[in-house]
Amino acid sequence: MNNLVRIDDPHFIEDLMYARKDNMLGQDVYGSIGFGNKAYMHEDVRKALLSMVSVLEEKGWKMRICDAYRPPLAHQKMVEIIPIPGFFKADYRTSNHCHGTAVDVCLTDLEGNNLAYPCEVDAYEPQFQRQVAMGNFAPFQEHLRKARHDYAGATVEEIGNREFLRKLMTSHGFEAIPHEWWHYNIIGWQNYPVVEWK
Ligand SMILES: [Zn+2]
Repeated sequence: MNNLVRIDDPHFIEDLMYARKDNMLGQDVYGSIGFGNKAYMHEDVRKALLSMVSVLEEKGWKMRICDAYRPPLAHQKMVEIIPIPGFFKADYRTSNHCHGTAVDVCLTDLEGNNLAYPCEVDAYEPQFQRQVAMGNFAPFQEHLRKARHDYAGATVEEIGNREFLRKLMTSHGFEAIPHEWWHYNIIGWQNYPVVEWK
């Protein structure tokens, strides 16, 4: 599949949020197109993730992969389900997930419990969709504020974990984006094409 590979390593937990129903969409979109809970990514992304294994072992942690490669068909469905600007990029070609060059991640203990962070990864909570559908944007906007790297209202532990993840990822081939602490692009992402999935 166009240089895409599955992570397939015990230090990484495949737990794609769009392959579950308890996400903001309230639907298992990846399951609905037959993709399922499989963390595929460009082989360069996998290599960069695997280069962190010694750090994970030293800390006694694992990494949860909450999203990786996203089939364009799945992205289009997500835009159809929530066609509100600011939620999902209207054009799938502009989403790094559809290029296999982005991952949404957090660190966990060895049992797979997430470390503490200023907020959950992405908008796991289905109530955001219901609230937004009723015109109540405030809770989701508050969540987006907590999602930023510069959000300072969290505990020392939560901020420390967010910072540790950022330093780990950016020292192993990834770049952060300011508005989502969990999202990382492989450096040089501009050079990778969209990958279709059949
Ligand atoms: Zn992402």
